Amino acid sequence: MSKVILITGASRGIGRSAAILAGARGWSVGVNYTSNRAAAQETVAAVQAAGGAAVAVHGDVSDESAIIAMFDSTEQAFGKLDGVVNNAGIVAPGSRLADMDVARVKRMFDVNVLGAYLCAREAARRLSTARGGRGGSLVNVSSIASRLGGAGEYVDYAGSKGAMDSLTLGLARELGPEGVRVNAVRPGLIDTEIHASGGKPDRAQVLGTSTPLGRAGTADEVAESIVWLLSDASSYVTAALLDVSGGR
Ligand code: NAP
Repeated sequence: MSKVILITGASRGIGRSAAILAGARGWSVGVNYTSNRAAAQETVAAVQAAGGAAVAVHGDVSDESAIIAMFDSTEQAFGKLDGVVNNAGIVAPGSRLADMDVARVKRMFDVNVLGAYLCAREAARRLSTARGGRGGSLVNVSSIASRLGGAGEYVDYAGSKGAMDSLTLGLARELGPEGVRVNAVRPGLIDTEIHASGGKPDRAQVLGTSTPLGRAGTADEVAESIVWLLSDASSYVTAALLDVSGGR
């Protein structure tokens, strides 16, 4: 069945791969981005080339009105949503908590926690059959950092993903009776540009060799699990935290 999906942070990395894989299934995708318009347009073209439909939707997930606007734009383009991927997220340069300033920690929680909660709230309002929606699937892109803790690098980031795990467990129970499944994928070391934004472009490549599978993962490998959780093939899966981490 063709689906209408909104993916936050879909201009690059894991979100981009998920958008293209959704496109290959013939789905329609809202491709959210915040600053890199050219990358979002490239993703839209790639989704279309894969066989789907797509529209680029601008908006910073830490801004409530921008979130509402990006949901509105996607539904105006393609009709009622069937799925949402809460994927946009940031890291910051490695630091111990004792050395972090408040601006860094606040931004981390504004984007990764407040943003994820408000996008999930908006998804709940639009997907729930109790509110006129068609039911559907919400996929939260957490991280195995939530159980590793991020010591010495980013305990702020790890905690933000811990919040996402709790959100997944609670919201799944709220929304199950209303036709909405809520799950999380928890990637490990995935080779994307997020590591450069944390000051270590080769972090995944270097640390990936110490995982049981002996390498970093790819955005495409994470996208497979996201699209499976969006699809009807996972129809009895909710409140799951799925590690995609090569065993790390
Ligand atoms: P990435 O390559 O850095 O891409 C980040 C994406 O998020 C971009 O599309 C970016 O848009 C968007 N974005 C950033 N801040 C945003 C904001 N405030 N509002 C809206 N969009 C925003 O990251 P990634 O590695 O694909 O990570 C995606 C998700 O996976 C994140 O939640 C991350 O925490 C999680 N994750 C990644 C790894 C990994 O090793 N890569 C591991 C575990 C979990 P622009 O292009 O406009 O900047």
